Amino acid sequence: MNGTRDWIIPENWANGVNTVEGSLPKRPTVSNNYKATVVPQYLRLIPAGSIFNSISYQFSTSWRHTDRPRPLVRYIYKILSVNRASENAHRAYADRIENEQRLWHATVRRCQLGDDGQGLQLCADEQCSLCQIIRTSFKKKFSLDSGMFGKGIYVSSTSSKAAGYSQNSQPSNYKAILLNNVVVGRAYETNEPMQGRTAPPAGYDSVCGLPGTALKFDETCVYDDDAIRPTYLILYDVGKP
Ligand SMILES: [Zn+2]
Repeated sequence: MNGTRDWIIPENWANGVNTVEGSLPKRPTVSNNYKATVVPQYLRLIPAGSIFNSISYQFSTSWRHTDRPRPLVRYIYKILSVNRASENAHRAYADRIENEQRLWHATVRRCQLGDDGQGLQLCADEQCSLCQIIRTSFKKKFSLDSGMFGKGIYVSSTSSKAAGYSQNSQPSNYKAILLNNVVVGRAYETNEPMQGRTAPPAGYDSVCGLPGTALKFDETCVYDDDAIRPTYLILYDVGKP
């Protein structure tokens, strides 16, 4: 395998950055009785550089499924916090519980958000979990009850594990995955399913499934909405089937 493959930035990519960054909407002017409607901006394209490389490296090195070819990262977006109260709630939780980690989560994308380094507006489809998470962060109430560790929000340190949940409902050359700040706190580590839970075991803040009999790759479940915030959206090549 060519070891430099992961670090080749497509030539048209750098141009795309300038185009997108240069076309950011200007601050609307307010005059007399007319007040412009401000559309919140949730995403900012990360240009080539150390942040892009760091996240791309984490994606590549945590791709642990040897039976799935490791895809190339094409675009990375910073998810901008537009809700100060929400951000403060997460920071307060992180200060209290500690042990914050950067973990992966993927879900259903029903639009073409992020494709080709453009399309920065979230869609209005309530079934588009990706846009909903970016808009309001994760909500445990929307999670299924049937998870291995019960009703909670699931993340993994293994990008290829989370990528298994990335679904497009429209044609695209890319798939989406989220890198998240997750406050794991004191993790209850187990090799066994713990179905039916709605909270971690007493004295713990999360459940961490370790690779073993029930799981091939790690999976962590948090049960508090304030434990997690999405921080980066990554678009990677779909790859050949
Ligand atoms: Zn969407």
